[in-house]
Amino acid sequence: MSQPFRTAPTAKRPSAASAWRALAAALRRWIDTSVAPVPEGAAGDRIDWLRAVPFIAMHLGCLAVVWVGASPVAVGMAVALYALRMFALTGFYHRYFSHRTFQASRAVQFVFAVIGAACGQRGPLWWAAHHRNHHRLADTEGDPHSPRHRGFWWSHAGWFLTPRAFATDWSRIPDLARFPELRWLDRFDTVVPLVLALALFGLGQGLSHWAPGLGTDGWQMLVWGFFISTTVLFHATVTINSLAHRFGRRRYDTRDDSRNNAWLALITFGEGWHNNHHFFPGSARQGFRWWELDITYLGLRLLALLGLVHGLKPVPAWVIAKGAGPVVVDHKNKD
Ligand SMILES: [Zn+2]
Ligand SMILES: [Zn+2]
Repeated sequence: MSQPFRTAPTAKRPSAASAWRALAAALRRWIDTSVAPVPEGAAGDRIDWLRAVPFIAMHLGCLAVVWVGASPVAVGMAVALYALRMFALTGFYHRYFSHRTFQASRAVQFVFAVIGAACGQRGPLWWAAHHRNHHRLADTEGDPHSPRHRGFWWSHAGWFLTPRAFATDWSRIPDLARFPELRWLDRFDTVVPLVLALALFGLGQGLSHWAPGLGTDGWQMLVWGFFISTTVLFHATVTINSLAHRFGRRRYDTRDDSRNNAWLALITFGEGWHNNHHFFPGSARQGFRWWELDITYLGLRLLALLGLVHGLKPVPAWVIAKGAGPVVVDHKNKD
């Protein structure tokens, strides 16, 4: 596979022209995911630091809070955007696109796909394809992000930054790939987050002008509403890949290491009931007992009441009955 940004082995040092070409190639890959081939062999599984620059910049942007300070409206915006986008991720990227546990119109699916894309966790097709592979190969060598094989940091964030992980496995998502608007979101997956960042900056500048009593401005709104909210959202989401396959209880004796973890369920709006979910991924609900708080499921029921979604698939009685036995506490990963 050609790598235009690499110099030939015989070259003594990169020329200015090749350095510019490397930068141009990286810039294109940040914007247009269709121009990023996966290198052969182990190179496909090494972190692509150049391409990871926007991800790293998102983290560094949080540090600017020491200059911009805080205000109730900026912190409130960060919390609201966390909640809205977490719901779009868990309700739609996960339970709708990846598992088809309910139905929605093309317009509703697109609106929530756009909100999900604002999370900076790539497009809905990319997300669903990786997640379907996770279920198919959970905690085997082929799992894209198993802590069993490559440890915590790999399962948490490392895998996300490799050329192999940047690619979308189209063979897993024929049902979703037929929508051109979803393919567009997937190809240009940085556009929606960029628009959100610009909108927050513009809103903050507007508020500083029209409502100075709120004590905010464009930079503060950008740092809280975009950088901090999106970074926290990312790490909360991927705890399900890393911590929910390590810490918690196993109600069901699944082939993987998935766990039920109430703390993770709280911050991810219900995704922490991960052992339930691995045992039966086909229901819109992941908290199987009345006390297993599943905020996303409550939100989906509200959308169903409003007529925006329908056909929420329930948890079958046999699944509940099977989980009523003694809790499985063995740790399959002790080897
Ligand atoms: Zn899992
Ligand atoms: Zn799943």
